[in-house]
Amino acid sequence: MLPERKEVLGVGVHPLTLSEAVAVIGGWIREYRSCGKGTEKQADAPECSADSSWVTRQVVTLNAEILYHAQHDPRLRDLLNKADLVVPDGYGVIWAGRRFGHRFPEQVAGIDLVSALAAAGSAEGWRFFLLGAAAGVAEEAAANLVKRAPGLQVVGTHHGYFSQDEEATVLKKVREASPDILLVALGAPKQEFFINRHKERLGACVAIGVGGSFDVLSGRVPRAPLFLRKLHLEWLYRISRDPSRWGRALALPRFAWVVLRKTLF
Ligand code: UDP
Repeated sequence: MLPERKEVLGVGVHPLTLSEAVAVIGGWIREYRSCGKGTEKQADAPECSADSSWVTRQVVTLNAEILYHAQHDPRLRDLLNKADLVVPDGYGVIWAGRRFGHRFPEQVAGIDLVSALAAAGSAEGWRFFLLGAAAGVAEEAAANLVKRAPGLQVVGTHHGYFSQDEEATVLKKVREASPDILLVALGAPKQEFFINRHKERLGACVAIGVGGSFDVLSGRVPRAPLFLRKLHLEWLYRISRDPSRWGRALALPRFAWVVLRKTLF
């Protein structure tokens, strides 16, 4: 059962832990299968409450940068508020929530969500499709996920640099693979708009925007050391490795200023 959203700068965010988010997604997959979608129906599946057309559930792992852009982009804000599950990926969102009087139990980073879903999915037989990142990266990420969670079913991969003309072919590949979980790594908010635009024809139970997760899972990009993550400085580490991110990082002080202006004065 989803808890009520807590509003942070006009966007409703679900206060869930990582394992609760996995449980919500697992519940959707059981319902999806009970509706005759995906593969075999599970014995303990809840009654099918959907009609024959299943619209892919959209999951957003929200960070301060997207939330800042949503302040100036009503389409993005609307999309976020209509997404089925929005979890606080970045500490900035949790900090802002606290300033507005909301408590979020835990940061649910996209990459941790992917790892936790892979662990749960290998036991449950969930089918994964990895879409996004440079050529070859999704395959390497998938291979590493399978190494960590043997038995995990990866039913397809595709890189994320396809043209408008190639989009229909990519969508067909996803639909034919009929995944339970479609992981989309096109960067935010491109991946969020992609999922939203196509959710009626993806043929997946759930689609999750996971940003740069495949780069890290493939081993091509190291994740920030734990001590930096604990200090909530993962973003600084990513800039130090890729200085072209400086421009994007400007959204962070601007985001902090918007939050402080609204909560101090
Ligand atoms: N990407 C892609 N297609 C695009 C643009 C980006 O597949 O048209 C991929 C890119 O290769 C990278 C990911 O999307 O793997 C975005 O990573 P980033 O770290 O910028 O994402 P964030 O987590 O910051 O949104």
